[in-house]
Amino acid sequence: MPDGTTVKADIAVIGAGAVGSACAHALVRQGFDVILVDAASPTAGTSGACSGLIAVSTKKPGLVLDLAVASKALYPEIVGDLHQPVEYRQSPTLILIEHEAEKPALERTQKAAAELGFRLDYLNRNDVRNREPHLCGDLVGALRCEDEQVVNPYLMNLALAQRAIALGVRPLFGVRPIHVDVTNGQITGIETTAGHIDAEQYVFAVGAWSAELGALVGLDLRVVPRRGEVAVTARVRQLVEHYVMTAGSMIAKNDPKVAERSSDPLMQMGGGLGIHMTGEGQVALGTTRAFAGFDRTSSEAGISAILSAAALRLPALVDVPILRCFVGLRPHVPDGRPLIGRSRRLNNLLVATGHDGDGISLSVITGALIADLAAGRSPAVDLTAADPDRFTEIQADNNEVALATT
Ligand SMILES: Cc1cc2nc3c(=O)[nH]c(=O)nc-3n(C[C@H](O)[C@H](O)[C@H](O)COP(=O)(O)OP(=O)(O)OC[C@H]3O[C@@H](n4cnc5c(N)ncnc54)[C@H](O)[C@@H]3O)c2cc1C
Repeated sequence: MPDGTTVKADIAVIGAGAVGSACAHALVRQGFDVILVDAASPTAGTSGACSGLIAVSTKKPGLVLDLAVASKALYPEIVGDLHQPVEYRQSPTLILIEHEAEKPALERTQKAAAELGFRLDYLNRNDVRNREPHLCGDLVGALRCEDEQVVNPYLMNLALAQRAIALGVRPLFGVRPIHVDVTNGQITGIETTAGHIDAEQYVFAVGAWSAELGALVGLDLRVVPRRGEVAVTARVRQLVEHYVMTAGSMIAKNDPKVAERSSDPLMQMGGGLGIHMTGEGQVALGTTRAFAGFDRTSSEAGISAILSAAALRLPALVDVPILRCFVGLRPHVPDGRPLIGRSRRLNNLLVATGHDGDGISLSVITGALIADLAAGRSPAVDLTAADPDRFTEIQADNNEVALATT
């Protein structure tokens, strides 16, 4: 966009990560005239620095599980429309139970998944050894889910954005909002670093950076970056068949307080071991989950905790070189639920953020739900628990109480 000009559109999607790109893709397929705005470019955010497990077995029962089930069903159709390979494939998951105390949380997941038609099988330690002979160390057993998938998240983000653009979405990359005009409960325009945007509706989808964008319109989008480190090895022979993770990692994901009580160095960093083979035959090893601001540099402490845990569980890796390490910032919301929906305070604003460690899984359903809302249809999944105004309203109530008591 040349400086000083005004770009008009039906809908301006701000943020071109997997979530924003999925929204742009779904909206243009519904016939909307869309612009896709990003301060950098697609894959510059967390979707370019993460893993791509599309699972139900790792999801917290409730809203996130419901969204995961709906997204999983939608993935094949969306991938089919992208017309380029994104390494989408079957990849059963194996959740390793290292302590008896981890069983109840997994049994709850197993039950909730079964109610939605997904089978998670309990394996004893011998079954685990038979299925994954390279894994070592003590185990109680594991939970296995056959019907799960993975995608290359980097390729998925890029393909969604490229397909959206091929269908008519206009990209405005390297462009950042600096001021948002609000009149009578509506956004009436956005001043950017390269000119003015004038759209009928707006979608905020900037992941871990949402709090700053929300503040421009007086909304408390309480998204906090939750840092995750990953190490990727050189190519090796097939060492694991499953997408393997520890139950502790899953439990710490849903309850950050677990980390404080753990003696495991990786869990103390909020994480737990994850091991999977990439589409290129490398082994990706993760991960930490730390609240440490927007720092995206790999840390010696984080990477060595991951490598030590991996060496104990998969000794065949000990002499395999590490080719690269990276950090992604999960868009974490303190109550564990994403923010998806239409704001009641700004009635032409749709919010799509806060997907924490699940945004690749949930990107395509989020796009579909945003398209439903933009078109005035009831969303296909009940979004009451994803209310994007919930923190703004708590804040407003607190302010009223404070005023009344002073
Ligand atoms: C180590 C790790 C492993 C993970 N593994 C998985 C997994 O296996 N499965 C899964 O489903 N999820 C996983 N996740 C979570 C997933 O990566 C995120 O939930 C997802 O990438 C978030 O996507 P997003 O589009 O919301 O944000 P992002 O991808 O971060 O995109 C946000 C975009 O907004 C842009 N932006 C920021 N501020 C502004 C602004 N003011 N104006 C304009 N543009 C702006 C950025 O440049 C960026 O392009 C993992 C995350 C990590 C860190």
